[in-house]
Amino acid sequence: MRNEAQTKGPRRLIVFTDLDGSLLNHGDYSWEAARPALDRIRELGIPLVICTSKTRKEVEVVRKEIGITGPFIVENGGGIFFPPAYAFLPTGSAIILDMYRCIPLGVSYARIRSFMEEVGESFSIRGFGDMNVEEISRLTGLPPDKAVLAKAREFTEPFVMEKKEELHALERAAHVKGLIITLGGRFFHCMGYGNDKGGAVTRVKEIFSRHWQERITTIGFGDSPNDFPLLRAVDIAVLIPHEDRGFEDLALPGLVRAPYPGSRGWNEAALKIITGPSAGKRRTKKGHTT
Ligand SMILES: [Mg+2]
Repeated sequence: MRNEAQTKGPRRLIVFTDLDGSLLNHGDYSWEAARPALDRIRELGIPLVICTSKTRKEVEVVRKEIGITGPFIVENGGGIFFPPAYAFLPTGSAIILDMYRCIPLGVSYARIRSFMEEVGESFSIRGFGDMNVEEISRLTGLPPDKAVLAKAREFTEPFVMEKKEELHALERAAHVKGLIITLGGRFFHCMGYGNDKGGAVTRVKEIFSRHWQERITTIGFGDSPNDFPLLRAVDIAVLIPHEDRGFEDLALPGLVRAPYPGSRGWNEAALKIITGPSAGKRRTKKGHTT
């Protein structure tokens, strides 16, 4: 297999993608339908950057399974990880974390946990850090071996709240500590200010741009509201429809709507953009292409 890090394609493209409901089907988590586009991306030496709310441990499994080698963004933009094959990139203030260079954009999990423990007496909340693997498995529907990976948090804490009316008071308490509360598909999440996919995508683009010294066109794939910052940060944004309820309501100049949900839609849109006549065109602020 060619190493995308060492291969220079004819155009400077970077692809950013969400996983669940985008590259991976919502229902069966399969990515097989995206294989043709994934192969093409690899052949062209285009970095494929996963950008997900999953943890590093969960992403490591997916990367290995699909054979994706690029840098990756975890926990909704909490951290960017550059594998050893990308050690040539000017990552600046990155810290060494295991085999990776890591740029933490969120706050540490320890800081979030200490907040959760501090307010735990006053609110009806329970975070992943308070739960055992069986409980996380039951709440997420993940098998225990996958639930272990989801529990390995570094930048964000998913939690449940029994009394929803407490939300505003909890948000106020979080703000004082520089933290925010967001609502995801199944859980509330506590994380640092500025912890979003868009900031992380922009940071990765800047790093590649410093290295390549060329203009870059970025392509981004997402299906849910937590992907909107990602889609706003890229030049060519692709919205993937949900299997059951179609497209999220997002208005963005030049937005590409994939023809199918999940990996099949991802494949079609990716092939069209990467190999089509409009490849490499940039969306301007006015929504025109150049
Ligand atoms: Mg998704």
